[in-house]
Amino acid sequence: MTNNISKPEDNIQLKNIIAHAKEYGFVYQSSEIYDGLQAVYDYGPYGVELKNNIKELWWQSMIKLHHNIVGIDAAIFMHPLTWKASGHVDSFNDPMIDNKDSKKRYRADVLIEDKAAEYEANGEAAKAKTLIKEMSRLLEEEDLKGVHDLIVREDIRCPFSNTSNWTDVRQFNLMFSTQIGSVADDANTIFLRPETAQGIFVNFLNVQKTARMKIPFGIAQIGKAFRNEIVARQFIFRMREFEQMEMQYFIRPGEEMKWYEIWKNIRLNWHKAMGIPENKLRFHDHDKLAHYANAAVDIEYEFPFGYKEVEGIHSRTDFDLGNHQELSKKKMQYFDNELGKSYVPYVIETSAGADRLFFMVLSNSFVEEEVGEGNDKKMRTYLKIHPGLAPVKAAIFPLVKKDGLPEVAKKIYDDLRFDFNLIYEETQSIGKRYTRQDLIGTPYCIAVDHQTLEDETVTIRERDTMEQVRVKINTLRDEIGKRVSMKNILENID
Ligand code: ATP
Repeated sequence: MTNNISKPEDNIQLKNIIAHAKEYGFVYQSSEIYDGLQAVYDYGPYGVELKNNIKELWWQSMIKLHHNIVGIDAAIFMHPLTWKASGHVDSFNDPMIDNKDSKKRYRADVLIEDKAAEYEANGEAAKAKTLIKEMSRLLEEEDLKGVHDLIVREDIRCPFSNTSNWTDVRQFNLMFSTQIGSVADDANTIFLRPETAQGIFVNFLNVQKTARMKIPFGIAQIGKAFRNEIVARQFIFRMREFEQMEMQYFIRPGEEMKWYEIWKNIRLNWHKAMGIPENKLRFHDHDKLAHYANAAVDIEYEFPFGYKEVEGIHSRTDFDLGNHQELSKKKMQYFDNELGKSYVPYVIETSAGADRLFFMVLSNSFVEEEVGEGNDKKMRTYLKIHPGLAPVKAAIFPLVKKDGLPEVAKKIYDDLRFDFNLIYEETQSIGKRYTRQDLIGTPYCIAVDHQTLEDETVTIRERDTMEQVRVKINTLRDEIGKRVSMKNILENID
């Protein structure tokens, strides 16, 4: 991840986007009436539609466009050993402490153990033993203040700054844990998955055998993931409960760089196809590789606060399957008929956050522009969301609430509601009704006027250009259908 210094005017834009998201029913702070829960958000009526459409697009682009990719829906709870095998238990479970002068971070338990080793070396074995015992008790009781006080009392210093100017001890475990069953002891502790990928790895053989998949093949999944993020800010960019859309592609060992390049390009094209301009997207190679990867790149989007990751593409080698094989004692091997041998497949993964993509689409579509001439000049705000993703596809209005126009408009609504997500509205002036649809990104508004009664035509008003065309009522299904189809996006991905 890169850090970009955001410009003040951009932050105003961010504020406007967040305010818009709330005011027009896209995203609310969770539990707002209780002053909210930090880094947790709820999606409103238009937000849930947009998010569902993004997920649907991703799903279709994986499952429909690739004969060799299938989907699963694994549970959030998994056997605790899963997280041992994945490395999450060991990587995220440490009590951390920072030295304020050197800015170096340490594992609090390691600092204390080193001190005990020092006592031991000086012939003070009993002291060392007492110290370790006390530390174990404090850690067991999760008394982090006690651990901090112990470090200060023992005059443990930072080897770099030689000071004992320490921060509080914090538990750096990104995983949320909970108890399964009714007995509250450690054996029953399970985790809320911090990534969806492991549900795919543990089902690798089930899927391969039951769907008769041959390497190379992929397994795709969309689902919730949970991380107890320490730094939680920037709206829905970093949440504690979020949704991932992941695809693990199982390949022959040694072919990972070829597939890595192929998937990098497919995924970049996907973002472009849904209307994100090329000059707002970029690849960013990881400087430091995660414990499981031998190559990794982020697709970044230029948010109002700078370029930030929206999706990761990782070459995970045989790290996960290999570890599951070791811990479960079940063979995670594939017999390759062509090569005439068995191996643990390598994996290329594409991992996107549904919420971050939602944020990207919302940021990218938020338009504030001046329209009109002279004294009629005014600001117009609208969401320029791709029609294939827009929450509502069309709104149907009778021009006035009389003369039989509402009846005709309602009939059109009744006819088309099986095909599209629609809104019917008859109150307020038609101008206000258009504005309201612009604000939620509805790409088309259908107006029934007096001419409709004469020749069975209506107007379709296009959101971005505000231009109107007149069409026959009996062609509306096709006219709207061809404009809002997700196929228009899918066709541009390959
Ligand atoms: P970051 O560096 O931003 O913390 P990451 O590298 O840890 O992200 P991955 O583990 O690669 O992220 O997860 C894949 C994708 O899941 C990310 O590209 C992002 O879109 C999404 N994601 C990860 N963490 C969060 C979060 N806390 N909130 C929302 N989306 C997230």
